[in-house]
Amino acid sequence: MRYVDEYRDPALARSLSAEIRSLVTPGEVVRVMEVCGGHTHAIYRHGLEELLPDELELVHGPGCPVCVIPMGRVDDAIAIAETEGVTLATFGDMLRVPGGRGSLLEAKARGADVRMVYSPLDALALAAQEPDRHVCFFAIGFETTAPATAVTLLRAGQDETPNFSVFCNHVLIEPPLRAILETPGLRVDAFVGPGHVSSVIGTDAYRFIPEEYGRPVVVSAFEPVDLLQSIAMLLRQRVEGRCEVENQYTRVVRRDGNERAVAAIAETMEPREDFEWRGLGVLPASALQVREPFAAFDAERLFALPGARIEDPKACRCGEVLTGQIKPWECGVFGTACTPERPLGTCMVSSEGACAAYFSYGRLRRPREEAPVGA
Ligand code: SF4
Repeated sequence: MRYVDEYRDPALARSLSAEIRSLVTPGEVVRVMEVCGGHTHAIYRHGLEELLPDELELVHGPGCPVCVIPMGRVDDAIAIAETEGVTLATFGDMLRVPGGRGSLLEAKARGADVRMVYSPLDALALAAQEPDRHVCFFAIGFETTAPATAVTLLRAGQDETPNFSVFCNHVLIEPPLRAILETPGLRVDAFVGPGHVSSVIGTDAYRFIPEEYGRPVVVSAFEPVDLLQSIAMLLRQRVEGRCEVENQYTRVVRRDGNERAVAAIAETMEPREDFEWRGLGVLPASALQVREPFAAFDAERLFALPGARIEDPKACRCGEVLTGQIKPWECGVFGTACTPERPLGTCMVSSEGACAAYFSYGRLRRPREEAPVGA
């Protein structure tokens, strides 16, 4: 297949839906976690849940990079942004994430120089254009976006850019998956593996899931037919008594990933001792920090940061949403005190957040059959 329409072909989707129905046992629910927030949005945007049998329950995972950033790190970014002579640059989604002192957008309204960029290289270009200011890039994301930050650090080193730094918040996919897999009473039977992260780290990176935890994984692309095919592949494994990592996203993802991207990350960044995740607490070796040879570009060494640990608002249940323990509509403030316009938690902010997906595509209450007409 070459064109996106082919990956959205209704006849193909219907035949995969029929295959999925033939692979489940009536009355036996299989819970499949889609790790990536991009998958969550594709599922609801295209109404895929309506094509699945009642025996197939989708559980949303922690793979939204904006959602997992804790409030304390947002406050650290605000402290950098409010430093005299500093411009803080970051992705659009991060601007609205609430911290203990409000969001970066609110800091901007108070006078801080906060700017939206599309890539870390844009932030580096900003530093070259405005030599009288220090430009700090607030870096977030899993292994997907870390290579771009790595390349930017390498470029900043080559160019000896004196007024540029990175506030590194890159996180790694394996530790949160292990944390979820080790949750007592876990009710996840199989995983749809993230597509973008896997294009960097490869499918072999998930072998620990079937080998140590006995759950199958299928790495998936993002179109409707891709996702339905991935679910069918997972169910086929169960029916055939297999438990392994398979790759549905063969047009992009390789078994061993992208060696050059991984090498660039390893050259510029290293695992930090521990990192606080929203919803998962502090996980050891779960995030990256800037390596010593690039210390001149490390915002954590250049700025005095509050570094405070801030509890989420009491009403916020993002942690349970991120670990698949509840559906967004089970949070008491979903769609009332927490909406995309005025988010209380991170899962309502990002284009990859599960709450934002449920709200945007009308999944406002539980049973599919009770969803409002036109939802
Ligand atoms: Fe968090 Fe808002 Fe979702 Fe509740 S509705 S879990 S507060 S994002």
